[in-house]
Amino acid sequence: MNHCKAEYIWIDGNMPTAKLRSKTKIIEGEVNSVSDLPEWGFDGSSTQQAEGHFSDCLLRPVSFLPDPLRGGNDILVMCEVFNADGTVHKSNNRAKLRELAEMYKDEDCWFGIEQEYTFFDGIKPLGWPDNGFPAPQGGYYCGVGSDEVFGRDIVEDHMEACLMAGIRLSGINAEVMPGQWEFQVGPLGPLEVSDQLWIARWLLYRIGEDYEVSATLDPKPVKGDWNGAGAHTNFSTKSMREEGGIKVIEAACEKLKNKHKDHIDAYGADNEQRLTGLHETCSIEEFRYGVSDRGASIRIPMQTSNDGYGYLEDRRPSANMDPYIVCTMLIETVCAQELVDA
Ligand code: ADP
Ligand code: MN
Ligand code: MN
Ligand code: MN
Repeated sequence: MNHCKAEYIWIDGNMPTAKLRSKTKIIEGEVNSVSDLPEWGFDGSSTQQAEGHFSDCLLRPVSFLPDPLRGGNDILVMCEVFNADGTVHKSNNRAKLRELAEMYKDEDCWFGIEQEYTFFDGIKPLGWPDNGFPAPQGGYYCGVGSDEVFGRDIVEDHMEACLMAGIRLSGINAEVMPGQWEFQVGPLGPLEVSDQLWIARWLLYRIGEDYEVSATLDPKPVKGDWNGAGAHTNFSTKSMREEGGIKVIEAACEKLKNKHKDHIDAYGADNEQRLTGLHETCSIEEFRYGVSDRGASIRIPMQTSNDGYGYLEDRRPSANMDPYIVCTMLIETVCAQELVDA
């Protein structure tokens, strides 16, 4: 009898930043589509998703990918969480995005997310001296050499695993602070990019176990004159990618300006420590957009400006953001909102 190991992955109810959880289900028979995957349950009282006396939550598989670590016909399964009575659980942010994505599917929204993160070896960033600090920032970004770069073997393993799983990775790079890295997922539709980003995060943590190195999405893992970690979200609609799209992009920036505070509130915890106006960020209190401006809230890439169409880069989301929420906010503000002067 055929069987496969299916790693059921879900997002918990931890506040203010949710954590990934997973457990393995042995599935008998072939898995050709998500409908071949049974629903499952878990103890919500251990994941901040239920009270102890009524603790069963429901896992409903929504997408799956080949498991690059176990190999064979084993799979990684992304799940949504429901209450025992079948209603959407309050921690389930994917459900709302699912509805919006369907409503605005004619806009053909694309997202490319740049996930920054920091490796930790115990209580200090990977590669940092036991006492004090490494040399100041300057040579680490896209650096090479054992004095500049820390953790490349893990990064290479993670990249390979993502590609084997079919995740639409568009690249990786070493970041400005030593021990800090980035990978990019996309461009993809809102549900695809979000599911794949969560699974790529899961793979990062899981591969880190083998190296006894952890990865954190803390937006400011080291206080002081060190870059924080963000999740720049690149976004376009069909009309932005067509001739004359720059006008649509500028109109989108005006809509985003009117909703700045709502977006900040949804873009990840502790983001005020990162969006200081220094270190290639715009202050959390301000909203600015501009061509090629890495000190703006929204950057219009040089190429987009030159071509007259393309995409925008929302630089505000924090590394620990929930992509389901960030994609929801962008679609709501840009697609669902008529432009009104505030
Ligand atoms: P940066 O110059 O800000 O470091 P990156 O190369 O790290 O940019 O990331 C850019 C991201 O934008 C990639 O994930 C890429 O796939 C994505 N992207 C490219 N074109 C589009 C588009 N039209 N719509 C949305 N995302 C896009
Ligand atoms: Mn980047
Ligand atoms: Mn970056
Ligand atoms: Mn960027």
